Amino acid sequence: MPNLPIIEPFRIKSVEPIRMTTREERADLLTAASNNLFFLKSADVIIDLLTDSGTGAMSSEQWAAVMRGDESYAGSPSFGRFEAAVQEIFGFQEVIPTHQGRAAEHILFGVFGGSPHVIPNNSHFDTTRANAEQSGAIALDHPCKESEDTCSAYPFKGNMDLKALAATLEANKGNVPLVMVTITNNAGGGQPVSLENMRGIRELCDKHEIPFFIDACRFAENAWFIKQREHGQSERPIRAIVRDMFDLADGCTMSAKKDAIANIGGFLACRDKELADEFRRRLVVTEGFPTYGGLAGRDLEAVAQGLNEVVEEDYLNYRAASIRYVVEALHERGIPVLRPAGGHAIFLDAGRFLDHLPWQQYPGHALALEIYLEGGIRACEIGTVMLGGKDALTGEETPAHHELVRLAIPRRTYTQSHMDYVIEIVDAVYKRRASIAGVTIETSPPVLRHFGATFSRSGVGVTA
Ligand SMILES: *Cc1c(COP(=O)(O)O)cnc(C)c1O
Repeated sequence: MPNLPIIEPFRIKSVEPIRMTTREERADLLTAASNNLFFLKSADVIIDLLTDSGTGAMSSEQWAAVMRGDESYAGSPSFGRFEAAVQEIFGFQEVIPTHQGRAAEHILFGVFGGSPHVIPNNSHFDTTRANAEQSGAIALDHPCKESEDTCSAYPFKGNMDLKALAATLEANKGNVPLVMVTITNNAGGGQPVSLENMRGIRELCDKHEIPFFIDACRFAENAWFIKQREHGQSERPIRAIVRDMFDLADGCTMSAKKDAIANIGGFLACRDKELADEFRRRLVVTEGFPTYGGLAGRDLEAVAQGLNEVVEEDYLNYRAASIRYVVEALHERGIPVLRPAGGHAIFLDAGRFLDHLPWQQYPGHALALEIYLEGGIRACEIGTVMLGGKDALTGEETPAHHELVRLAIPRRTYTQSHMDYVIEIVDAVYKRRASIAGVTIETSPPVLRHFGATFSRSGVGVTA
């Protein structure tokens, strides 16, 4: 076989124009946005890689399903189709729709959270952590040791550290209400979790008689990695692997904005009817009646159809190939990028990319700004601006573990040539990296500062 280029396994029937901007315009736009990419208007972005959440392109079948949406308050057939899709793919009989993933988490921790509970996860996603902590519980992350090395080729860097989990369960007997695992591990770079690791978690949960829930946002991408990398899985259908993963669990939370390729939606699902009824009692107060949750009938339809499309192997092969293509091309050019490629994003190691900038000058944020300036691509800093802490004694700022820039790839939205453009723009920034200045925070809100802070570039850190 010749080495064929990646082709998108779809044709495009509806297009959305992209407005091209010049570098001069972008320099002015950055100034007007106080050097915070969250303040840009999306119309001023050429390729928007801020997130893969809710930004995917729906298929013609999803749009057709939208038109079939039945907006009855109770007993809508759209709920029937949604419920059936979740039951069939995940194997959970109790299905509770929510408006997005965090609403499902809020209900889950309303039941399982609270002080003095401790909730272990491979890595909590930020909304999961926020919901657990808001309930009064302590959220603990137990990522596997292999995840610390950003360049090692370990196949399942999303795994949970089972020894650490066992120790937490022993040390907090009676206070761990459930164990969660996030697939793929978003906070850990979109890296997968193996079936073997999930079996290990199940065993520990059985030993301590506590439920096991999966944060299922990227379940299909995780199943694809299992098929490629785990012993004995390569010939099995994705749907069978998905069922194996969820057969190990008692329930899950899901954001349909990820692997349901919908623009909004989520759900909570489980096996236990009594637990589900408790979830539903909470659902009616904050989300809505149990047959629509926080969604319109048309959204339920789009999610049901999307769940059936996301497990198609042609789609998953293309998605993984497209992300791997960018990662390998950048790596070949000597650009520091997290490897192996994860399932939904490309992560640049900004600490090494801009190794002349100390963390106090926020290399990740500086790099994200330069990538926008160079080519109108919007990425997201995942470094000290977003995740930095404070020293408990001195109150001084402390750095994040890594200074990363995430290029999240929306599903089915951009083409191979868009990815080629991304490679060239990042390379152009890399070639002039030595002259890139650092960043100073001018104003900062007390929480979630990356969303609202303002920044300046002048003077500080200019090295060439
Ligand atoms: C996006 C996400 C969530 C939260 O889902 P929303 O739909 O954004 O509320 C939870 N966990 C993970 C791993 C996610 O990626």
